[in-house]
Amino acid sequence: MKLQGWIVVASLASLTAHAADTELNLYSARHYQTDEALYKNFEKTTGIKINRIEAQEDALLERLKNEGANSPADVFITVDATRLAKADELNLFAEVKSPVLAARIPPHLQTGEWFAFSTRARVIVYNKLAIKPEQIQTYEQLADPALKGQVCVRAGMHPYNLSLGAAMIAHEGEAKTEAWARGLVANFARAPKGGDTDQIKAVAAGECGVALSNSYYVARLIRSSAPEDRKVVEAIGVIWPNQKTWGTHINVSGGGMLKTAPHKEAAVKFLEYLASDDAQRYFADGNNEWPVVADVKVKNPALERLGPFKADTLAIGRTSKGAITAQKIFDRAGWR
Ligand code: FE
Repeated sequence: MKLQGWIVVASLASLTAHAADTELNLYSARHYQTDEALYKNFEKTTGIKINRIEAQEDALLERLKNEGANSPADVFITVDATRLAKADELNLFAEVKSPVLAARIPPHLQTGEWFAFSTRARVIVYNKLAIKPEQIQTYEQLADPALKGQVCVRAGMHPYNLSLGAAMIAHEGEAKTEAWARGLVANFARAPKGGDTDQIKAVAAGECGVALSNSYYVARLIRSSAPEDRKVVEAIGVIWPNQKTWGTHINVSGGGMLKTAPHKEAAVKFLEYLASDDAQRYFADGNNEWPVVADVKVKNPALERLGPFKADTLAIGRTSKGAITAQKIFDRAGWR
């Protein structure tokens, strides 16, 4: 009886101390259908309503800059470490001290300002008739003169390639990365154009022998039942690069709380929710990615088919910071 009375008083006190957040303003550059279920589940369990603004990364960053201190945004989520770094450089993210996030997300996949919630790998895709797997076990081998006229890849300035370049700089140094970029450009089958899926299709069609692609584009094709996609999947092989050295380069989906967030408590709750078992499954599987929380397993036939691999454990903050240097190196090497 005495205890019950104490609980009533305590909860009243916490209500009067500050009104709990009842909404959260989320700026998101992710547009996956499964994210709907993810947000609904958060609203149901916390009673906090999510107001979502979805747009391209650059438009959202521009909006955040213009809104400044008056921005209603609490949380910003996007894909790619380089883009998260851009937001970080604009000084948009608040430091988040959360024991939950610290415990659940591996140290190399968080910076203190922003957190990765899923990972994707940059893989090598090859035409099984044109290329032998032993020719392309590493990113470095893509610059081997033996592959002259065989390489298809999207523009060097794209964040996915810049992140890979940044990882290579961290592991091999700038000089080796520049020599690699020059060798890669010398091996191009055609001038860079299109996205990763276009490169995979060009490999399947025999226009090139090898290409670089993010893993989820491959997984998407594996899960497709369209006859033309089945043909593509049959024609290609997939390599996890650098298994004997620093591991396959990975990139992330992630986000953080904004410094100007009006609902800071809700923002931290939401970030912690994204690291929960259920959310990890939704978040990663929605785009055929891997959860960052170690013991969370997804049931995804395409990811299972691609199999396990050794991922690079370079700190994601370092990956993103090297992107500017990578851009300069790729420019000099003529990877436009
Ligand atoms: Fe993508």
